[in-house]
Amino acid sequence: MSRSLPNILVTGTPGTGKTTTSEMIAQVTGLDHVNVGELVKQKQLHEGYLEEFDTHVLDEDKLLDELEEILKEGGKIVDFHTCEIFPERWFDLVLVLRADTASLYDRMSKRGYNKRKMDENMECEIMQVVLETAHESYAPEIVIELPSNTIDDMESNADRVKQWLDAWKVNNQ
Ligand code: ADP
Ligand code: MN
Repeated sequence: MSRSLPNILVTGTPGTGKTTTSEMIAQVTGLDHVNVGELVKQKQLHEGYLEEFDTHVLDEDKLLDELEEILKEGGKIVDFHTCEIFPERWFDLVLVLRADTASLYDRMSKRGYNKRKMDENMECEIMQVVLETAHESYAPEIVIELPSNTIDDMESNADRVKQWLDAWKVNNQ
């Protein structure tokens, strides 16, 4: 896929800071933030809600069609907790945000997650599920693991993406 600006995937366990970080990256770089969870709800790209798991069951075909259209011009920051459902060719950079257990626990409590969801997400983060899935799904050189525990982390992550984007522009003009 040839595009004039790159697409970046920001992934990680729920609560690692994807949405907050994506917004900051958007501010610093001028790229557009696409919050996939919100898009799924807004455009009904799901097959219903699963009460027990407090989650929507994705309609993957619909979601991929919708995103293909949004991503084809490039310049998008895609924010989603799952990374293996997307075609590899969509992304030029894949960021996997990581939070230590204390930060993650604290953030989920504030969000009012139920115990089951908190346990699931804590285990997911401790077992590095998203990081390993990203490594299995994308070329190793485009997958970057980033700490996301403090505001300083977030600022330095956004700054790093800005530098990466500037280099991308030089190499792809
Ligand atoms: P996600 O989109 O991955 O579920 P959010 O971006 O919604 O995570 O962040 C969850 C909570 O953690 C929010 O209250 C946010 O302000 C806070 N947070 C996110 N990233 C950081 C960070 N790097 N340092 C401190 N707090 C953060
Ligand atoms: Mn989010």
